Amino acid sequence: MFNRSRGNLALWFTLTMGSILVVFAGVLYYQKVLNELEDLDRLLYQKSRVMAVNAKYDLRQGQLDLENVPLLGTNFPPLGTELVYARWYDTKGQLVQFFGTTPRAQLTMTPGFHTIKTALHSSSAMPTVIWLRQLTLPVYQDNLLIGYLEVAMPLTPTQNDLAQLRLVLLVTVPVTLGIIGLAGWFLGGVAMQPIRQTYEQLQRFTADASHELRSPLAAVISNAQYGLLSTSSNPAQQRQRYEKIVHVGKSMSLLINNLLFLARHEGRLPPQSLQSVDLNKLLIQLVDNYATQADAQHISLTCELPPDNVKVQAEPDLLRQAVVNLVSNACKYTNADGKVLLRLFTQSHQAVIQVVDNGIGIPETDLPHIFERFYRVDKKRSRKTGGFGLGLAIAQQIVQAHGGEISVKSAVGEGSTFQIVLPLK
Ligand code: ADP
Repeated sequence: MFNRSRGNLALWFTLTMGSILVVFAGVLYYQKVLNELEDLDRLLYQKSRVMAVNAKYDLRQGQLDLENVPLLGTNFPPLGTELVYARWYDTKGQLVQFFGTTPRAQLTMTPGFHTIKTALHSSSAMPTVIWLRQLTLPVYQDNLLIGYLEVAMPLTPTQNDLAQLRLVLLVTVPVTLGIIGLAGWFLGGVAMQPIRQTYEQLQRFTADASHELRSPLAAVISNAQYGLLSTSSNPAQQRQRYEKIVHVGKSMSLLINNLLFLARHEGRLPPQSLQSVDLNKLLIQLVDNYATQADAQHISLTCELPPDNVKVQAEPDLLRQAVVNLVSNACKYTNADGKVLLRLFTQSHQAVIQVVDNGIGIPETDLPHIFERFYRVDKKRSRKTGGFGLGLAIAQQIVQAHGGEISVKSAVGEGSTFQIVLPLK
């Protein structure tokens, strides 16, 4: 699926950039044609002007003198050019004199520049067909039309130049298209990367969630079926089964609540949902609430608070939930006679909450994954204590939603320190 999308992205990228490239190459070629023609026309005009100024017409005698006209007369300075032909027509369009190929006796072209195809006859070989640029120029003397000069130059050098450009474009355009295609494939990969990661995360999350729900659901079904099919009339046994169903049902409900929680509270909290929360009060309340449970586990649960109350902008219920998850873990993973300490202090515009225990600790290799959803260090141990591996993921999500950070330091057998850092109000 991702490779197909990547391919599509690359294809669209190549098509878009390729079209731009082809249009660009077309414009470049067209501009070159215009420039070449313009240069040739300018040259042709200059040559014909040199010829035209040397033509003289004697008004009184009504005689045309082309003696000093280059190429047409005998007494002309060298023109230094490769004109294919030069022709002089009188004012009525009748041929008077010519140089080069034999022309028609009557002027056929209208004044101006023309591109024409002509066959050049040489004595030995077959006639060669070439393209010419021709100028038909009306020549005036004292505002009086004295004739028409028709000159032509071969277009071959221009055609050669353009053929060379075409060759360059023909090689470079496909090569560039290939490079664009590769770049598109690479960029498509880069663009798909975050989508692929999110998709994989979502897939893993769904698979984990389904897996976690499957075993309790199987337990509920098997207990219910056994209750229905059993012929035993032992009420204590029946009750045990129903209790099991309720217990497993509650655990499923907790899991679903946790999953919904994670799905709902994604991203930063809106400022209007935040209020001033006194962290000293929150931690004292929390220690109070957990005192009985800690006593039952023979764990000393204490708290170390600064003299001044520390306040942050937070959603109180969510923030309490995050700290509760840490405290509950600390109690869960600390053996009897252990210690759990809640510490609060401030440092450079930040409030810091630490939950320190001297419990079983977390192996170094597990530490980078500890905040991932459904991650449990010891699957069997956590199952026994009823954990789904979502508590820390939820705590992290809440802290991040408040613009804070959560981190952990731990050593196996020595204990763990979880730390929440929040911006001060
Ligand atoms: P769980 O519901 O399994 O406790 P959590 O996300 O809260 O899930 O914790 C993930 C895992 O991190 C736990 O399974 C446990 O192995 C480990 N863990 C969390 N807190 C502590 C702690 N204070 N001491 C030792 N291990 C801990």
